Amino acid sequence: MASIEMIGVTKRYESTVAIDDLSLRVEDNEFFVLFGPAGAGKSTTLKCIAGVEFPQKGLVKIGGTIVNLIEPSNRNVSMVFENYALYPHMSVYDNIASPLRSRLHRKSEPDIKKAIDKIATLMHIESLYDRKPNQLSNGQRQRVAIGRCLVREPNVFLMDEPLAHLDAKLKHTMRAELKEMQDAFNTTTIYVTHDYLEAMSLADRIAVLDHGRVVQLGTALQMYYTPGNEFVAKLFGEPEINLIDAQFYVEGGKTLISTGIGLTYEAEPDVAAALQTQEHNRLHLGIRGNNVAFSFQGGGEGWLRGTVFANEPIGNSVIMTVQLGPEQIRVVAPNDTNAALDQTVYVRLATANVLYFGADTRRYIVRHNQEQVSSVAHLRRAGREGGEA
Ligand code: ADP
Ligand code: MG
Repeated sequence: MASIEMIGVTKRYESTVAIDDLSLRVEDNEFFVLFGPAGAGKSTTLKCIAGVEFPQKGLVKIGGTIVNLIEPSNRNVSMVFENYALYPHMSVYDNIASPLRSRLHRKSEPDIKKAIDKIATLMHIESLYDRKPNQLSNGQRQRVAIGRCLVREPNVFLMDEPLAHLDAKLKHTMRAELKEMQDAFNTTTIYVTHDYLEAMSLADRIAVLDHGRVVQLGTALQMYYTPGNEFVAKLFGEPEINLIDAQFYVEGGKTLISTGIGLTYEAEPDVAAALQTQEHNRLHLGIRGNNVAFSFQGGGEGWLRGTVFANEPIGNSVIMTVQLGPEQIRVVAPNDTNAALDQTVYVRLATANVLYFGADTRRYIVRHNQEQVSSVAHLRRAGREGGEA
């Protein structure tokens, strides 16, 4: 068990700045997710903690000790990569045992057996001891690789997109197993992914990285409900959040939001107050597809008429793209929805759920009931940690 701290860490590869003056603190026993697009600097961050890369600037601390000059093998850190390599000539049992038989650890065989049995039960691989890696499925191989890293009982467990190559169903199972593992081991884990569902389901906290910097730090629910900018809002949620051009103006004491899709409405008082502090009146309204109602019948307050632009079944629902004037709006419709392209349909935006962004800055300004929403987001984290948020 150990906390991890990075203070002003910069890592350059020739002219590329992979991580840029990055500071982070991961608490003891936390399941911390680094999330962001390819090239954001996620792997480099892990490598600097593991000690396989050396930053040009800044400090890396594990358990309060500066480790910049400590060899990787002495950091008690275990790392699993996307491309997990098992020893092909060894059985599953011997693969998992290998770190414990190394010069560094050298445990007695009965102790090794005990340690392996514990891990194998957790990872559901007890029945595979005698198999060779080429007799395993991808998912089984990945479980063995994780098992091999865990068997050392490291202080810090670093995982770099370990589930990236697994199919959707296996990913789902493995996510559940990783959570179970975290509860059983009390290790501090930093987990890298570019899959937002993985990030949301596993993380105590998430750091969103872009261009080697932390864009936002918080819980999964904070990322989803109060993203700091449009970049974060787009990364979390499926389909991608809709961003609709709009502006606000004050008329007769009311703050009105007007759009190019035939929708004008009055902002709630808390939203109005925040908007009035803004320098510019041009906005992007962020609204998620599940906050847009859909119907074949028109009429009624707030319903907007559009046409079907695209239809994409995603299993338990259909993502329908509706052309509404100049905008295309992604809507989550029931999976039995059967609409022809160009067919007339009606949508209604749940304006109480809109996230307001500055059109120029692309930064988050406000949402209605922000206080309640963000205190719920905090509570969940406190619940998981049994402590302060
Ligand atoms: P991520 O894991 O988020 O996809 P990386 O940490 O691998 O991102 O890479 C961050 C940036 O550093 C990228 O622009 C990448 O091309 C560059 N980079 C990473 N490793 C090397 C390397 N060994 N040599 C040169 N450039 C590298
Ligand atoms: Mg990477």
